[in-house]
Amino acid sequence: MQKIDFSDINKTSSKSFHEQRNIIKKVCLGKKVLCPKCQQALKLLPPVKGDNDKKTGVSCVKGCTFIELEFEM
Ligand SMILES: [Zn+2]
Repeated sequence: MQKIDFSDINKTSSKSFHEQRNIIKKVCLGKKVLCPKCQQALKLLPPVKGDNDKKTGVSCVKGCTFIELEFEM
C-alpha cells in the first residue's frame, strides 16, 4: 500500500487532493462512496486504542483504494 502524504499531493496535483478530501468527507458523513477499481464501498478505518501500528484512513474491502488519515486521539 502506498502511503499518501497530503502536503505532497497538494504541491503536485491539487485536483486529486481535493478529490480525496471530498471522498473522506463523504465517508465521514456516512455517504456511500465506491472504490473506482473494485466498486466496493469505501469504509472509514478508525484508530484502535493500544494499537498504534494499525493503519487508519479510508479504504475499500480489498484495499486497492487507501487514503491514509491521521486521527486526533
Ligand atoms: Zn477497491
